[in-house]
Amino acid sequence: MSVHELKNLQAQVQQLKDDGVYRVLPVLGGPNKPEVTLDGKEGVINLSANNYLGFATNERMKKAAINAIEKYGVGAGAVRTIIGNMDIHENLEKKLAEFKREDRAFVFQSGFNCNAGTIQAITAKGDLIISDELNHASIIDGVRLSRADKKIFKHSDMADLERVLQENRDNYENCLIITDGVFSMDGDLAKLPEIVELAEKYNCMTYVDDAHGSGVLGENGRGTVDHFGLHGRIDFVIGTLSKAIGVIGGYVACNETAYQWLSHRARPILFSTMLTPADTAAATEAINILLETDEYQKKLWDNAKYFKEKLGKLGFNTGNSETPITPVIIGKEADAMEFSRKLKENGVFTSAIVFPTVPLGTGRVRCMLSAAHSYEELDKAVAVFEKVGKEMGLI
Ligand SMILES: *Cc1c(COP(=O)(O)O)cnc(C)c1O
Repeated sequence: MSVHELKNLQAQVQQLKDDGVYRVLPVLGGPNKPEVTLDGKEGVINLSANNYLGFATNERMKKAAINAIEKYGVGAGAVRTIIGNMDIHENLEKKLAEFKREDRAFVFQSGFNCNAGTIQAITAKGDLIISDELNHASIIDGVRLSRADKKIFKHSDMADLERVLQENRDNYENCLIITDGVFSMDGDLAKLPEIVELAEKYNCMTYVDDAHGSGVLGENGRGTVDHFGLHGRIDFVIGTLSKAIGVIGGYVACNETAYQWLSHRARPILFSTMLTPADTAAATEAINILLETDEYQKKLWDNAKYFKEKLGKLGFNTGNSETPITPVIIGKEADAMEFSRKLKENGVFTSAIVFPTVPLGTGRVRCMLSAAHSYEELDKAVAVFEKVGKEMGLI
């Protein structure tokens, strides 16, 4: 028996159940690969991971992690500012700066921590943050922690961004414009060239969260900033080590001054232990691989094109994605949930995404392609989409 029954939480959990939105977490019985063991069922085709390049199980990276454990142990032992800053951490930052073509990179324990810690450190009460309405939850939390004033512009609407700037910019000394680089629900790209121009015109700092762009877009996966040729014109370029890189961690690529400030004021670094040696070495090896070859990135895009074309031919609506993120828009929320459930029964796992994560009436399943998928696996998935789509009268 616990001290409190937590009646208020009990009631809220019951409400989730009554609303039909209570969920039980699916359980993987092995590695996160293109075919997984899910809830005890083997050979389920995985179309839901952020593991774009298949690096979560990359052999070179696994070896690097094992070697690092042998040499450095399993934990960093302290926060970085006391005695948890290892040479491999510094080396990872050097590699990331080279990869991102920026002066410096500052590493956090996750992409979430990176946003929460960086935004809070670089803005303060009395500053203005202007944010795209579809930005990631960790950006929203970072903005709250900063206590700066916040204004939202309509998703990727440059006229609306300029309106916000005209109405507010003069009232503040410091202003930061924040956007995701790739929006994860639709797979569309931020209009970075236009955002940068407006930021320069109105003297604002710029911040791009490229969690879904790094490893995917740009030369050898350098990200959306590289894709648009905007190096040196964006102040803070965020990436994660947990998506295409396949491990865990986050980083901000920035200039020397920003690096120095963050190492004194980024709270997740001051008050939380740094990445483990295994994570650090595996992520570093991932960057080594990306600097050597673009074969994984090429295969990822090839798979995405292959899969989108096949679904399109069957009559599915795959939206306006510009990236390997492939939404299959179903419409009604209940239909999207049912479609996802039936796909799973038939051995294909894609998560349903519905209101309020996406607008009402645009319920969908979201397919995440990977370089590791084989054509055979994608063909199997497409056959299941066809079968279930026809059963439900969707195509
Ligand atoms: C996934 C994601 C994050 C969080 O990254 P983690 O490394 O998983 O904590 C932050 N921002 C965006 C846009 C993301 O998609």
